[in-house]
Amino acid sequence: MGWSLTIPPKIWDRLSDHVLGSAARGAVLLAGLADGPRGPRLLARELILADEGTDYVPGEFGHRALAPTFVRDAVIRARDEGLAYIAVHAHLGLDHVGFSEIDLASHERGYPSLGQISGQVVGALVLTDHAAAGDLWLPDGRREELAETIVPTGNLLRLRSQPAAEGCPDSLHDRQARLLGDLGQETLRRLRVAVVGLGGVGSILVEELARLGVGELVLIDDEAVEKTNLPRLVASELGDIGRLKTELAARNARRANPDVHLTEIAQRVERPESLEELVRCDWIFLAADGDAARHWVNAAVQQYLVPATQVGVKVPLTPQGEVGQIHTATRLVLPGSGCLWCNRLIDPTRLAIDMHPAEEREAAQYIPGVPAPSVITLNTLAAAEAVNHFVLSVVGLHDEEGDHASVIHRPRTRQRDLQNPRQGQNCRWCTSSGQLGLGRRGSTPL
Ligand SMILES: [Zn+2]
Ligand SMILES: [Zn+2]
Repeated sequence: MGWSLTIPPKIWDRLSDHVLGSAARGAVLLAGLADGPRGPRLLARELILADEGTDYVPGEFGHRALAPTFVRDAVIRARDEGLAYIAVHAHLGLDHVGFSEIDLASHERGYPSLGQISGQVVGALVLTDHAAAGDLWLPDGRREELAETIVPTGNLLRLRSQPAAEGCPDSLHDRQARLLGDLGQETLRRLRVAVVGLGGVGSILVEELARLGVGELVLIDDEAVEKTNLPRLVASELGDIGRLKTELAARNARRANPDVHLTEIAQRVERPESLEELVRCDWIFLAADGDAARHWVNAAVQQYLVPATQVGVKVPLTPQGEVGQIHTATRLVLPGSGCLWCNRLIDPTRLAIDMHPAEEREAAQYIPGVPAPSVITLNTLAAAEAVNHFVLSVVGLHDEEGDHASVIHRPRTRQRDLQNPRQGQNCRWCTSSGQLGLGRRGSTPL
């Protein structure tokens, strides 16, 4: 439990270049505030870099410090935008970091009055390459330590003031812990993961996440099981027809891991009950068809800085019934990288239809009642790619931190291709200038 700070990858790259580079300069992050799975989350939205010499100067106490005018301007911006003010600097070191006596004395002199000016959280973050510590001053006078700083990049970086304590070796998961480490296993146990859409792909995702030992799952789907679903739903039986898909997924998750915590939401993702849970997760898997689900998950990623994986299978058929290029897609959706809108994966017309009540939706379909082909083996291919990526990311085993590529399988030609997401320059959702997007929770209906 405790406060955390999430920094979008592109802001992190600029911040760490600036403060961890050879010149060791200072900066300020402005951050929104949201509820998180383990306590309040600060969501870094803007980065203000201090220029060497004018903004970052030798301080009164023989220590480099942010210049008073720079601090004043940044605090006023924080006040006007209703954001937390977090001053950032770096120390030498590896996986341990803490504030110096001089740092702490300056916090005690400065932060009570800065907090009064801004009326928001104020504080400081100190970094090394592999560690981060934070000292937060709350508007009600409390002072909190930052438990962790999270950067959702190719590897899900989680920086603390010292390495996390290893959990007790867990005999159930002994074999996988030999790859992921006891610490990795403990990390999985502490995560809260949402699965949106519990059909063919979602059912496999839930089975795998629960067996891996993910501690908490949020299951979202408003549909009931139909007979034609049975060939693709893990461990389903004839007697399950008519049951909610959330119920079935919950039963399987408990069989796989009796200790798992479950939140079942038999609603469409755009319902407030669903969105509220979705944005309090560490990761979202999107396995629902439909543009509304894509739109809302994309919004949650960008506004609340929660990474997501979109998983889909496409079997194109011509009107004559000829099979085209079958493909599965596993797409990483990260805050501040090319989003689902930028990559034309949300269609405004279909989104508008999808937001209507069920009866109206059906009436608006151009070709009603032609079900798409769906096969368990294709679903498995896409789901396995998605969960593998997730596991390697949370335990930090990806070779390339900056690799955000989507994976496309084309089973007919036995190809596996990587596809880098495109980003529109002025996307309203995933760029810092966007009016709806990055870290902007609270300013839109979500
Ligand atoms: Zn310091
Ligand atoms: Zn975008």
